[in-house]
Amino acid sequence: FSQEIKSTVQLIKNSNYTVVVSGAGISTEAGIPDFRGQNGIYRQLGEDQVMRIINIDFFNRYPEEFYQNYRQYFNFPQVEPSPAHMALADLEKKGYIKGIVTQNIDNLHQLAGSRNVIPIHGNAQEFICTAYHCRRIYDLDFYANSRENVPKCEICGAVVKPNVVLFGENINNYMGAREMILDARLLIVIGSSLTVYPLAGFVSEYCNTSRDLVIINKGPTQLDYAARVKIDPGTGSTGEVLAEICQQLG
Ligand code: NAD
Repeated sequence: FSQEIKSTVQLIKNSNYTVVVSGAGISTEAGIPDFRGQNGIYRQLGEDQVMRIINIDFFNRYPEEFYQNYRQYFNFPQVEPSPAHMALADLEKKGYIKGIVTQNIDNLHQLAGSRNVIPIHGNAQEFICTAYHCRRIYDLDFYANSRENVPKCEICGAVVKPNVVLFGENINNYMGAREMILDARLLIVIGSSLTVYPLAGFVSEYCNTSRDLVIINKGPTQLDYAARVKIDPGTGSTGEVLAEICQQLG
């Protein structure tokens, strides 16, 4: 795909407002499984079970069972940003990209040094008290050190929840994420099957503006037909693809 990389480099050079949309696929190279990919959590647990468990109603009713599953399947405290995350932070520093809208909850873009990140599904490295009058935020250490199955707020005693958007909850910064995507002159989607709404809807709205779309994803996405350039790294890595793009941009 050296031709596709060249075209992408040219599109980035010609654009004065490039935005990245990232999904779980960018973090598989950091060791976090995605949901729908080849080794995704849907294959281990089944889609119905995932939707049932990481759901706000389930959390409210059965917090113990929620946390048992969360610890086993959705908790990755030791991970480090991958070369792909690092490359994107570098591109932002050099002024080639304006920001990232991510579905990921792993905080890896921020850890890599990206500054303008909208994590619409929250941040799994944080925990939040569920009492509306309290809403105290806790870090990972608080969770790791908690001796209870279900962590409780030190101030008010209410149940503490991972600070992520569960099924049935509203996403964070809906307007900000949509605006950043629709303001883009070039949109680059990385590691998302583009099946999760509302993000997939924002990208599809962007496509109606006839501006350029680049997709870097292993396997098909819902909007491949609308992409000016599609790069499937195949058995290679997205980290290598982005490193090559960085190198050619200089
Ligand atoms: P998805 O699971 O629907 O799609 C991921 C896509 O990335 C798949 O098409 C897969 O083939 C592709 N992929 C896998 N490895 C890749 C690689 N190395 N390079 C390029 N592409 C690769 O993911 P999604 O669309 O982001 O939706 C899943 C939802 O689950 C999101 O809403 C997200 O919040 C959540 N989630 C987050 C994380 C995380 O924070 N790391 C992990 C799993 C799920």
